[in-house]
Parts: sequence; structure tokens; C-alpha cells
Amino acid sequence: MSGDGAGDFDVAIIGGGVNGTGVARDAAQRGLRVVLFEKNDIAFGASGNSSGMIHGGPRYLTDDPEVTRTSCEDSGHIQRIAPHLLFRVPFLMPLGPEGTEQTHIDLVDAFFEAYDRYQPLKNGKPHARLTADELYELEPGLFGGRGATPARLAGGITFDEWGIDGVRLCIANAVDAIERGAIVHTHTGVEAILRDESGRARGVRARNFSTGARVEVGARAIVNATGAWTGITARAARLPPESARVRPGKGIHVVFDRRITNYAIIAKAIDDRQIFLEPWQNVTVLGTTDEDFYGDPDDVRATSDEVRYLVEAISNVFPGVAGARAIGTTAGVRPTLYAYGPNEDALSRDHRVVDHANDGARGLFSMIGGKLASYRIFAEQMTDLLMVYLDAARVPCRTHTLALPGGERAVSRKVLAEGLGIDAVAATRLTYRHGGRAERIAERIRERPHEANVVCACEPVLEAEVRHVVRHEMAASVDDVARRTRLGLGACGGMRCAARCGQIVAEERGLEPRQGARLALSFLARQAKTRAVACGSLQAQEEALLLASIRSELGPLLGEDV
Ligand SMILES: Cc1cc2nc3c(=O)[nH]c(=O)nc-3n(C[C@H](O)[C@H](O)[C@H](O)COP(=O)(O)OP(=O)(O)OC[C@H]3O[C@@H](n4cnc5c(N)ncnc54)[C@H](O)[C@@H]3O)c2cc1C
Repeated sequence: MSGDGAGDFDVAIIGGGVNGTGVARDAAQRGLRVVLFEKNDIAFGASGNSSGMIHGGPRYLTDDPEVTRTSCEDSGHIQRIAPHLLFRVPFLMPLGPEGTEQTHIDLVDAFFEAYDRYQPLKNGKPHARLTADELYELEPGLFGGRGATPARLAGGITFDEWGIDGVRLCIANAVDAIERGAIVHTHTGVEAILRDESGRARGVRARNFSTGARVEVGARAIVNATGAWTGITARAARLPPESARVRPGKGIHVVFDRRITNYAIIAKAIDDRQIFLEPWQNVTVLGTTDEDFYGDPDDVRATSDEVRYLVEAISNVFPGVAGARAIGTTAGVRPTLYAYGPNEDALSRDHRVVDHANDGARGLFSMIGGKLASYRIFAEQMTDLLMVYLDAARVPCRTHTLALPGGERAVSRKVLAEGLGIDAVAATRLTYRHGGRAERIAERIRERPHEANVVCACEPVLEAEVRHVVRHEMAASVDDVARRTRLGLGACGGMRCAARCGQIVAEERGLEPRQGARLALSFLARQAKTRAVACGSLQAQEEALLLASIRSELGPLLGEDV
């Protein structure tokens, strides 16, 4: 890529999370010439490590009802444009003894009556008030079973939310942007935001971390969509960090190997914070923490303390968790709107665009705050501002009606399974992740039947899907494939599939087999770190031994004396 004239692109977007990819899609759809830079991989940050809820956030209803309304409204739109990615998550909120909500059931009931008014916006069902017996009927493992009913259990409330795979949402936005003419560079970090003598933004300088090559592009407008990195990015424009300030809040999740409950369950942690246990895709997720974060957002990981805090809290309400198999953790940093004073939980989840014209940098904008659940409207507001700034012809936003890739039409998993002779679970996962575009992967298998081979048995992921995400979704490493397909994120932690996946990635990218082996080993090493804090010391030791034996097996391929 070349060019130093300000006219190369209309807009350069920095950051490939949900907000950056959302703006790339909207701006490309409205006819702007778009380039996006992501220093890691698409959805590497908060967007790929969230709790995966496209919800209204009843929690925000008392202090920030506008956030609840916006999220519910956008949730309705996201359901329409990506129906394959959304799944219903009904919640149970037990009320009464320690570890549960202590508020009087009548008050909670009344609160959810207010929340019900927002439910139609997101196709949610109204809440229901439950007796203790009804709670046990729905979730027999609550409090260790009916016989162990705590004396003061008053009953509970159930309410309705929606789950999503945040990574797939970002990928769908990025792929759509590319198909509408945008250029997306992953593993390429912006090092400097270039400004002319008057201070106006005129382009960016970036470095590709795989090749080391530096590139410079001209752009008439620049969008800083770097989430928790926002302040660091502002410095790349020679602006003071306080010109685009977020209050970064670290959140972690513990992942269990399968669905261990029928419903998502709300509980209270020792410090009165609300936490949840949620069946999510084919695993269970326990989350989340929310703590001010002063570390490096490129290297954020769960600690064993954080894991214990969550497990202890949920054990009060669902003791069976102690016997369940934890297989990993995720961690991300929320780019929350800045405020000095309030506790992390009490911070607004609203979003805001900062126009740096006020700091002398015309044409530079920062997107701050927000939620996965309201990314689309945030992207629309940002693109509206770009259209005005660029004096572009007024093309209306259509991201609420235009389907995302895969959302255009449904593909029957039964027809797919029977037609290709693949496992029903594999067909189900394929249609979940790719919607109508699962047909493109099926087409590969029809032409090359051996690509129906299962590479990752835990998820499961087929060879054709791995090849598809490398070719059409910018996956450049085993980590990237895992992010897009969940390969290697199941019970075995990639021990059985990373090496094969590395080979396929190497073949697709024209790399040496040795480089494929390296990609596999670096994925396994990273996985081991995120798993060790959750899976207990014995299993961590066993996995370390297994990793050492895989390394020695691959040694000759790597050209190493192991
Ligand atoms: C634990 C947790 C749980 C959450 N749960 C939910 C939920 O259930 N529902 C919900 O609606 N919201 C949830 N959120 C909030 C939501 O995830 C975030 O608000 C949203 O993902 C932010 O998106 P973003 O694009 O602004 O930031 P990010 O997704 O963090 O993306 C920023 C990107 O910028 C890149 N970048 C940084 N610097 C540079 C550079 N110099 N050059 C190029 N690229 C760069 C990073 O690599 C990163 O990929 C949660 C957040 C967390 C942390």
C-alpha cells in the first residue's frame, strides 16, 4: 500500500472491535472509501471477551434508562440483521437467602414490570414471578437441590435476554465492509496519526507486525475506535490522553466444559456485586468482575484470585459448580466513559463521540464507551458525523435493515448434515457461526470431500471451515482461527487440534510447515496460561507435561533440538 496524499481514503479507522468494524461497514455502505487498521486481530479486545449479551441491561434501568432503551432497540435491529448469531438466554434470579438478591420480591417484581416495557423492542418475553417450588422445577440444581432449600428463599423472578458470539459479530461487520470496498489490515498497528500544519488530521502511519513493513496512508478523517487503548491512541496524534479519556474496567469470565444449567442464574458476590452463570453456546460461562485496570490492555489475563471470587459467589446459589470442569478463562477491558469517584459498577454504559476539532485536530474523532448491544447505533451516529464533516452526499444509514453476511437466509442444519454426511452437531455449529454462508463451506466439501474431516472434535470444527476462515475472514494464525471458530477452546485446550490447524493455516498461506508448527505452539502456550488459573494445579501440571511432549514431537519439524 502506498500513498501520502490526504485523498487516498475518506476515513481511516483505528481498531477492529465491534465499534471500529461497525463504522467500517456503515461508512462503506454509504459510499465512503474506508481503510481499517487492527493491531492484533479482529475482536481481540473487549468485543471478543465480553459476556456475549445483546441485552437491555436491567441493571442500568434505574440510573441510565436511556442506555437500556437504546440497547433494547439496537438489540432488535441486530436480531434482524444477524438472526443466526442470536440465541435466547432466559435468566433466573432467586430471591431470599445469602448469595441471592435480598431485595423484597414485590419490589423486584415491580422493577421488572418496568423492564417489561422495553422487552418488545428486543422481542423479549415479559418477566414472571416464581415460587421456590417453581424455581426448583426449572433448575433442580439450585442450592444443591430441593431438599436443601434455604429457609428464607422467597421465590424468584425470570426474565429474558439474548446471547451472541461477539467475535462472529465483528467478523461479519468486517467482512461486509470489505465486500463493500473497505480495506482491512489486521496485525497492523497505527503508530502515528498524521496532521497537517493547521493541525487537521491527514492520515496514519502503521506497522505490520508480521512483516515489520511500515505503511502510510492519507485519509480525510480518522476514527479512533480503540476501546481501552483510546488514551494511548490519542498520544499517537500528539494529543494529551485526557482529550479522549476512558475509565478502563477489567472483566473476566470462567468457562466450564459444557452447559451445566438450564437457565442463566443471577447471584450476588460477597461485595454485593451482581454476577451470573450462563449457558452460552455449548459451554457455561461464569462472570463477571469489574475492576479499574491500570495494566497493559494488550496483555490482560484472569488471575486465580478473580476465578475464586466468582466461583465462591456462584457456589452459594448453584453448589454444583464446584464439581463442574472449568476449562479456561477470558479477560477483557471495558472502555467505560470516564468519571472520577463512582464505583466501577455505577459507571454509565452510555457512549460518546469526541470531536477533536476542539483540541485543534479537525477530522479526528474518538468513539468512547458503549456496549456490544448498542454498537450499531453508535456506529450510525459516528458515520452521520463523518458524512457531515466530509461534506458527502447524504446516503441514509441502512445497517439496521441490511443483513450481515450469513444473515440473508437460513440454511437447514438437517439438510446440511444429511447432504454432506457430517455429524449433526458439526452442521449445527456451522450454521450457527456462518448462517447462510455455511453453504459456501458446504460447497468446498462437495468439491473436496476430504475437507469434511473434523479438525477440532470438542467444538467441532471441520477442515473446510478452517480453510474458509483463512481465505475469507482474514485468519492468519491458529489463534485467529480459534477466535473465529472456537477451535481449541473446548475441553482439550487445543492439544489434539492445534498442530493440524497450524498445518492447514501454513498450507493456505503458503508458509513452511515449520511456521505452521510454530503457530500451533504459540497458540497452545497462550491457552495454557489462560487455562491454568481455572483448571486446578493438578490439571495444569498435566497440561504442561502434554505441551512439553507436543513440543518435543514437533521439535524435528521446527528444526529444534528438544
Ligand atoms: C468482561 C466484559 C463483559 C462485557 N459484557 C458485555 C455484554 O454482555 N454486552 C454488551 O453489550 N457489552 C458488554 N461489554 C462491553 C463491550 O464488550 C464493549 O463496550 C465493546 O466491545 C467495546 O468495543 P470497542 O470496539 O470500542 O473496543 P474493543 O473491542 O476493545 O476494540 C478495540 C480494538 O482496538 C485495537 N487497537 C488498539 N490500539 C490500536 C492501534 N494503535 N492500532 C490498531 N488497532 C488498535 C485493539 O487491538 C482492539 O481490538 C463487556 C465488556 C467486558 C470487558
